[in-house]
Amino acid sequence: MANYPVVETFYSVQGEGLFAGAGAYFVRLFGCPVKCAWCDTKNSWSGSAPNFMSDKQIANQASLTSCDFAVITGGEPTIHPLQELVDSFRALGIKTHLETSGYMPKNVENIDWITLSPKLHSHTHESYLVSADELKFIVSNAEEIELYMEKFGEYFSGKKAVFIVPEFSKSRDSELLSEICEAVKLYGFPLRAGWQLHKSFGAV
Ligand code: SF4
Repeated sequence: MANYPVVETFYSVQGEGLFAGAGAYFVRLFGCPVKCAWCDTKNSWSGSAPNFMSDKQIANQASLTSCDFAVITGGEPTIHPLQELVDSFRALGIKTHLETSGYMPKNVENIDWITLSPKLHSHTHESYLVSADELKFIVSNAEEIELYMEKFGEYFSGKKAVFIVPEFSKSRDSELLSEICEAVKLYGFPLRAGWQLHKSFGAV
């Protein structure tokens, strides 16, 4: 059994990536060394100390919902040893999706879906660049789109999707949205223009 610092758990709608729109059970773990200036979940790494829950407590709570999969997120969830949590979900027939910036080397197996969101100001471990199912780039301007293409383009082959998502405070910036569309048209598949569906729907 393992204990995890849990900021929050909730059953909601996945707002991003190829599973957007699907019901999902979210587990937000505490702590993140990446510290993005625009982070919209700062409470996951700068707030007060969270409650600890065991892997079985978390999985049992999720099993009371109708979820098909659980999303392990943060913060940066991979700073914690995740295998027991993943195994407890699997034991109850719940798939696991992981959202990570790739800050740590990959040390967990049997994840059903990996969303990797590298950050330009932080290290991204190659083990996640290779194994991720989808990539997500959060951008504030056209220059960042180009930097992501240069830095990570060699890893696009075999990915199900590579989303370019406007940083939320710029999600109605017509110039940035236009730049994203132009990049998708220029580079082609697997690039996609991304959005944060749950914020449009007001879901939590
Ligand atoms: S990596 Fe994610 S959780 Fe950590 S600071 Fe950046 S956006 Fe926030």
